[in-house]
Amino acid sequence: MNDRGLTDPFGRKIEYVRVSVTDRCDLRCFYCMPEGFRDFEVPEHWLTFDEVERVMAAFGRLGTRRVRLTGGEPLVRHGLPELAARLNALPGIDDLSLSTNAVRLAKHADALAAGGVERINVSLDTLRPEVFKRVTGGKLEKVLDGLMAAKRAGFDPIKINMVVMGGINDNEVGDMVDFCIEHGFTLRFIETMPMGDTGREANEGHYVNLQEVRRDLEQRFDLIPGVMPGGGPARYAQVAGTDIRIGFITPISQHFCDTCNRVRLSVDGTIHTCLGNEHSLALRPRLRDGCSDAELEEAILEAIALKPERHEFNERPEKIMRFMSMTGG
Ligand code: SAM
Ligand code: SF4
Repeated sequence: MNDRGLTDPFGRKIEYVRVSVTDRCDLRCFYCMPEGFRDFEVPEHWLTFDEVERVMAAFGRLGTRRVRLTGGEPLVRHGLPELAARLNALPGIDDLSLSTNAVRLAKHADALAAGGVERINVSLDTLRPEVFKRVTGGKLEKVLDGLMAAKRAGFDPIKINMVVMGGINDNEVGDMVDFCIEHGFTLRFIETMPMGDTGREANEGHYVNLQEVRRDLEQRFDLIPGVMPGGGPARYAQVAGTDIRIGFITPISQHFCDTCNRVRLSVDGTIHTCLGNEHSLALRPRLRDGCSDAELEEAILEAIALKPERHEFNERPEKIMRFMSMTGG
C-alpha cells in the first residue's frame, strides 16, 4: 500500500468512497430529481466497469477500505452484481455496501449478496402507499417486497433512510420506528438538503429540524445514546429493550464536516470532494488519455487536496446546482 495514505488538508483520513454507477433512477423523489428531468449523462461518459474497477483499485492502494455503490438508482445499471463482485475482490477493500430505493431489489438481492455486498441502505420515507406515490411517483409495494428479499438474503445491517418532511411524513416517524423494530432494521432520519432546485424547494417548504423529532420520539420511546460501528455521519440512539438503533443525520442543524471521511465518484468519473461544495476533479479525461497507475494515484491525491473544510448549505443554500442523483447520494 502507498504509505502516503489519503489525508486531506484538514487532517481527515479519507477511507470511504461512494461510487455512483448511474445518475438515472426509476423513481422521482421530489426532493432529489425533478419530474420530467432528462438531462442525464450520455452513456459514452459513464465510466465502464473496467474503469470503475481501475479507479477503485487505485483508491484501495492509497488506503481506501470502504466502498458504497449508489446513484441515481444503482440497480438500474445493468450488471451491478457483477461490478460488486469485482470491487469486492480488490485488495484493501473490505467493506462493500449499497444504497438503493429497493424497487428492483427483490430481483437482485441474492446476486448482490453472492457478490459480496454485506450492508444495504434503503430509502423509505413513508409506509402509506398514497404518500409514497406523492413523494416518489412509484409503488410502495415493490419496495416492501425488496426489503423482505433483502432480509431473506441476509444483509446485515439493513438501514432504512427516511427524509423527514413537514406536512408530508413527519407524522409517521413513530410508525417507522415500530416498523423497524418489527423487522430488525436500523432507522436513520435525514434532514432535507438544498441540492439543486428540487432539493432547495423541499428544504424551504418542508425542512424539519431533527432535534425536534428526537425530542418527540423521546416522549414515546426510551432512547439511550449509542454508537453504531461504521455509523458515519449519523448520531445514534438505541431504543431501550430492543436491538434497534435510530440515527439522526443532521447536515443542516448540526453539521458533521469535521469527521467527514469520504469522497464521491460520479458516473462520469468526477471525484466530488464535498456534497455541499463544487470542489471536484475529473478523472475520465485522464483515464481515457491513457494515464498510468501512478498518474491515476497522483490525480486522486490531487482531488483529496481540494476537499474543503465544510459544506455551505446554511450560508449559501443557492450554491449547489447539482441534484443529489448527479453527485451520488
Ligand atoms: N437511489 C438510492 C436511494 O434512494 O437510496 C441511492 C441514491 S439517493 C440520491 C441517496 C440518498 O439521498 C437517499 O437516502 C435520499 O433520500 C437522499 N437524498 C436525495 N436528495 C436529498 C435531499 N435533497 N435532501 C436530503 N436527502 C436527499
Ligand atoms: Fe431516485 Fe434515490 Fe433520488 Fe429517490 S432519492 S429519486 S430513489 S436517486
